[in-house]
Amino acid sequence: MIAVEPAFKPLLGTSLPELTDWVQQQGQPAYRGKQLYQWIYQKGAKSLEEITVFPKQWRSQLATIPVGRSTIHYRAVASDGTIKYLLKLSDGQIIETVGIPTHDRLTVCVSSQVGCPMACDFCATGKGGFFRNLETHEIVDQVLTVQEDFQRRVSHIVFMGMGEPLLNTQNAIAAITCLNRDIGIGQRMITLSTVGIPNRIRQLAEYQLQITLAVSLHASNQTLREQLIPSAKTYPLESLISECRDYVKLTGRRVSFEYVMLSGVNDLPSHATELASLMRGFQSHVNLIPYNPINEVDYQRPSPSQIQDFVKELEQRRVAVSVRYSRGLDADAACGQLRASQTINN
Ligand code: SAH
Repeated sequence: MIAVEPAFKPLLGTSLPELTDWVQQQGQPAYRGKQLYQWIYQKGAKSLEEITVFPKQWRSQLATIPVGRSTIHYRAVASDGTIKYLLKLSDGQIIETVGIPTHDRLTVCVSSQVGCPMACDFCATGKGGFFRNLETHEIVDQVLTVQEDFQRRVSHIVFMGMGEPLLNTQNAIAAITCLNRDIGIGQRMITLSTVGIPNRIRQLAEYQLQITLAVSLHASNQTLREQLIPSAKTYPLESLISECRDYVKLTGRRVSFEYVMLSGVNDLPSHATELASLMRGFQSHVNLIPYNPINEVDYQRPSPSQIQDFVKELEQRRVAVSVRYSRGLDADAACGQLRASQTINN
């Protein structure tokens, strides 16, 4: 099959001035740019034909110009109100997005790639292989889709769905810019999570965004990290930590470290000691994530008391630490598992 490039790029991700220029190029008055902007970002128009304030004849000419919206392929509601979605993209690829509500927040967990090439040993997405990067509009669409489905404004975004955002930095940053500028989500409410790609954390710092950087550490020494994360072999822990220290210096913002807790693997007191010395002397925060079991490997989640022991070890060494329990487990366990289970079932 020959891939046909669309004549027009999808509009989602485009700013008001750009949309205004575009409508003027189509021979329309500038105010139609504002209307277009409101319809795609606020009213949820999925096609330009729906924009009833536009003249009929122009609307029919616009019918083939894509807005860039996905369709909901599957939706699973968990008992805690978390909703996991499988979204179908224009080329038929499927991605996972999650909406996580609390009384005062609606967080969206977005994907940055279809699949993921990093192949971390405990991650369901990694087991499924890599297909492609997401385009800017495909990241923005995930947030609009959750916002519309919940009929509530999204307050927070985490790039913790499928994929490694720093392998798709340009589109991830363009999406962050759009979400902030056009959908009104504060940069401080956005977290980008990365397993670490050489030089990319330093590069990210240069954009001077107000977002939170989360780094998936998962191990307190190089040998252990290599066992869990294949890319650690070519990107030593020492270099990763040194880039993170530079990030703090360049941005003045602290770095969050994620640490998936795997019983008997990375949760011993000696690991807490090593972790504490890695964190020494810089503004950081450790998020412990009790492992969500996946089918492909047989790691175990530590018991609550093992987790508390690890927390205590870290706190005694003055590490800022919290435990983050995953939400929506009954809708399907860990990241990437929903897509895996649905791909098998359908
Ligand atoms: N590639 C990015 C973002 C995607 S994963 C990254 O690695 O940070 C988001 C977080 O979920 C990461 O910290 C990841 O390690 C974690 N995660 C993946 N599989 C998990 C599992 N089975 N249980 C608990 N956390 C998991």
